[in-house]
Amino acid sequence: MSDCIFCKIIKGEIPSTNVYQDEHVTAFRDINPAAPTHILIVPNKHIESVNFVIPDDEALIGKLFAVAKQLAEKEGVSESGYRLVVNTGAEAGQTVFHLHMHLLGGRPMRALG
Ligand code: 5GP
Ligand code: ZN
Repeated sequence: MSDCIFCKIIKGEIPSTNVYQDEHVTAFRDINPAAPTHILIVPNKHIESVNFVIPDDEALIGKLFAVAKQLAEKEGVSESGYRLVVNTGAEAGQTVFHLHMHLLGGRPMRALG
């Protein structure tokens, strides 16, 4: 989508610190990190949120987890632990409407609630 900030990052039209990219998935460091490791893992295809995932996207969504696992190892948080978060909709705190998975690690996390 032309006015989507993550689509622009994926296409290299605005700067980002990329840590992974292939033909389906891009990962880059969050501009406002909430933990020592804070990476956003996004499908290159513009999908607004989990609400817009279709059956054809299932392999792509699975790939987000495979990339998360790989990046967690690279960041050295696999053993200590990390959190994967997908905010969906305004009430959950989604602010960018291009589906993304947060990979957070490097500090203890509080319980959800
Ligand atoms: P959400 O709140 O939608 O789950 O997460 C959006 C995330 O995108 C936020 O953590 C925010 O800091 C990050 N973000 C927003 N704009 C940019 C940007 O231009 N570059 C990068 N690297 N991260 C961004
Ligand atoms: Zn987009």
